[in-house]
Amino acid sequence: MYEQGPIRPPSEANSLLVRVTRNCPWNQCIFCPAYKGSKFSKRTVEEVKNDIDEMKKEYGSYSAEIKTVFLQDADSLILKTDDLIEIISYIKLKFPSVSRITSYARATTLKRKTVEELKKLKEAGLNRIHTGMESGSDIVLKFVKKGITASDIIEGGLKVKEAGIELSEYIMPGLGGKSLSEIHAKETARVLNIIEPHFIRVRTFAIHPFSPFAKMAKEGTFVPMNDEEIIREIRLLLENLREMRSYFSCGDFSLNLLMQLDGYLDEKKKEMLNLIDRYLSMDEIKKKAYSLLRRASFFNYPLEILESDEFIKKILPEIERIEKNYQEGFDGYIRHLMSYQLPQPQSEAWN
Ligand code: SF4
Repeated sequence: MYEQGPIRPPSEANSLLVRVTRNCPWNQCIFCPAYKGSKFSKRTVEEVKNDIDEMKKEYGSYSAEIKTVFLQDADSLILKTDDLIEIISYIKLKFPSVSRITSYARATTLKRKTVEELKKLKEAGLNRIHTGMESGSDIVLKFVKKGITASDIIEGGLKVKEAGIELSEYIMPGLGGKSLSEIHAKETARVLNIIEPHFIRVRTFAIHPFSPFAKMAKEGTFVPMNDEEIIREIRLLLENLREMRSYFSCGDFSLNLLMQLDGYLDEKKKEMLNLIDRYLSMDEIKKKAYSLLRRASFFNYPLEILESDEFIKKILPEIERIEKNYQEGFDGYIRHLMSYQLPQPQSEAWN
């Protein structure tokens, strides 16, 4: 038997999952359910190698089909560089067909590595790093207890790029609520413009019912944004991003309302802004109909669906029913639906 962690990026859906550490060494971000209630630990190189042997046995002749590997859990680069190189080399030995190895890492961990260490990891076979910056605003980062600053994000990100490793930065529209929306969008764009990562992956914020955000929203100390407001925030972000060679991606995450916002900024920025403007120009009922349709399923729908009178006629009674009966109103109902798409914490005790 071998161990596997609870999550991986959507782009690693077909990857072999090799767990090199357990859980998250920080684990304090107040929006993140993934590892709450679990303790961080490092695994020994021997343990991980045994897992790789077990995987090799399990996959047998299918091993040759495995092309990509993701190192779990939240911050694999926290391991000593030499240990990580030994693990990556062993993966390559046992699964020679693997052409891509990727990992999550925190900005502070990346900052601590030297470019030379990162280059050695790249030479061993580490091709891509996924890192959750969430925001480029120090105010938002502090508010959500992310434990990193904009300058950590920039320093860590630039080192990764200098080492020749692909960089995927994750951002979270809506995270600052209404009061911090503008600074969140503008500062996030500022930081991304400096780093110019290979990928900018959008992860629209949703409130987990156990999270401190749920309590703050109830008490009125945090004012969550609705779908339209978050799209306006994304518009401000996009407007402030340079037309650079970064892939702006909403398409790989179903909590993003407009999953169609997807493409290289130097090719599609204007097209994406136009799409947002089309959405924003729709009347309130159509916007609500689209939110309900998208939030009630994992599927993406083109905005054209709203041109069908028949569709609007069918969905209108449901919108009216929610508005009349749901205590927190239509937006509260949508937030409730969105929370189902979040990972579940490993304990209800979320401190
Ligand atoms: S967002 Fe990342 S760093 Fe923060 S608690 Fe979750 S896994 Fe850990």
